[in-house]
Amino acid sequence: MSENFYQQTTSVPVTAFDVSLRPPAFSEFIGQEKVKERLLLMLEAAKRRGDVLDHVLLSGPPGLGKTTLANLIARASGTQLHTTSGPQIEKAGDLAGILTNIQKGDILFIDEIHRLHPAIEEYLYPAMEDFRLDIIIDSGPSARSIQINLPRFTLVGATTRSGMLTAPLRSRFGLVNRLDYYSHEELARIIERSAGLLDVPIDPSGAMEVASRARGTPRVANALLRWVRDYSQVRGSGAINGVIADAALAMIEIDSQGLDEMDKRLLEVMIYKFGGGPVGLNSLAVAVGEDPATVEEVHEPFLIMQGFLMRTPRGRIALPSAYQKIGAPAPTPTANNPQQDLF
Ligand code: ADP
Repeated sequence: MSENFYQQTTSVPVTAFDVSLRPPAFSEFIGQEKVKERLLLMLEAAKRRGDVLDHVLLSGPPGLGKTTLANLIARASGTQLHTTSGPQIEKAGDLAGILTNIQKGDILFIDEIHRLHPAIEEYLYPAMEDFRLDIIIDSGPSARSIQINLPRFTLVGATTRSGMLTAPLRSRFGLVNRLDYYSHEELARIIERSAGLLDVPIDPSGAMEVASRARGTPRVANALLRWVRDYSQVRGSGAINGVIADAALAMIEIDSQGLDEMDKRLLEVMIYKFGGGPVGLNSLAVAVGEDPATVEEVHEPFLIMQGFLMRTPRGRIALPSAYQKIGAPAPTPTANNPQQDLF
């Protein structure tokens, strides 16, 4: 159950539950101080110049607040937000349709921008740089290019894989705004805010218990909070404290560090099936029966951040804490064992 639970909370589009908890202003957006400060400065500079905001790239694992920030940028600049995603733009015509519908200063948010088709990227370059679309119509000898002038707009791109962005696309954005996992304290503040909006009483020990198991991710924190609320309504008084939160999270097998069943299975497979690695992403994904992209974008970043595994050019390797986590004996160092100097 818990593995599906994370699937739902980290890789599906935002639910109605999330939307109601989305901070409506920068002042309510907790954490990510550096990114927030930069964005506010850019917004202020654009306002003073009377110009549109420069294009913005946001990168980081799912559920950390990229879509929320795009919304906040549009609100702060008093403009309209148009939302799409890389895989949704299949043809140049799709992009032209979107771009010819926007007004001066509007924000175009492209989620998963690393998944844009290379041909579409080519169309995007002049649109970003010169606010112009060069569309080729017809084919063969009668093919010709028409130019469409666009209003000045701001592109906000979000990516879970900034490394997969092509160099020309990346260079058309100024800075890469990298979102980090949240600290337990920040997540506890987010949980207390969300509980307030949901009208659920929660004490600091309850908020901290949920926060410490939320994988550094606000979306997961909100989803766990919803579960703990349900649990407390049925098995408790409706209020949340540390004891209730612990019992609720134990029931869905989220461990004290927030690892779910899939995380643990990944570590077990790496250690017992692949001798601790190095193992390639695809072999690992097949062995646990999960989609490689989900392993790479949802599970791995968290396991790496927690120090359970490491990516090397030859593949993933399990670190000593992974052996401890699943109660496996540390490997005996051998000449061929690539991890020998880690133990
Ligand atoms: P991403 O686009 O990076 O996948 P979202 O912006 O959709 O993430 O964030 C997921 C949910 O987490 C939001 O709906 C919002 O409720 C919550 N959230 C994200 N960041 C914050 C934050 N800094 N403070 C409060 N809530 C947040």
